[in-house]
Amino acid sequence: MKKSFLYKNTTLELVLGDITEQQVDVIVNAAKPSLMGGGGVDGAIHQKGGPEILEECREIVAQQGECNVSEAVITSAGNLPAKHVIHTVGPVWKGSNYGENVALERCYTNSLALAQEHGASSIAFPAISTGSYGFPLDRAAYIALRAAMLFKDELKGHIDLVRYVVFSEQDFEVFAPIFEEVTMTMSGSLDS
Ligand code: ADP
Repeated sequence: MKKSFLYKNTTLELVLGDITEQQVDVIVNAAKPSLMGGGGVDGAIHQKGGPEILEECREIVAQQGECNVSEAVITSAGNLPAKHVIHTVGPVWKGSNYGENVALERCYTNSLALAQEHGASSIAFPAISTGSYGFPLDRAAYIALRAAMLFKDELKGHIDLVRYVVFSEQDFEVFAPIFEEVTMTMSGSLDS
């Protein structure tokens, strides 16, 4: 299951899959402020990536303290096929009046900017905050797509591939119509 769209030289993709298996320069982790792992995406990345990633996370926390919401930090990717992992802390959903929408958008834009700084040309995101942090997936999908457009248009970003990875067919069915709706309003071309 896949959808893709070319937006100003950046391919936007929606795929059903496992973030740990993505063959891209950077995968993004939906991390906790402690950077010490947890369940969901975080657990899978540390489990499959091996102890090297956790060790680097420990060093980051020792230097700068725990991460703030929307902050993004980078480590190597251990045994994973990606080159780097960017760890970003999504907002906990509290009903939308606590700045969660902007905070989630910043997770994406900060991760994109950091990936670019490290020379990445491809990046894969999980649906940050939509698991244990309770963010509604439909809202998160709009934000995730908007962030890629902002990155291109306002931050003049130049990453070749931005991939959104959802973990269940049910989530794909929620994200796919939003992907189509948002990309239809962009000037680009829908591939599939
Ligand atoms: P958060 O704490 O930010 O909500 P979670 O890891 O709990 O993060 O969940 C974020 C999203 O990632 C959820 O939609 C969840 O279904 C999905 N997810 C969980 N494991 C994986 C995985 N291995 N690959 C891709 N997505 C995953």
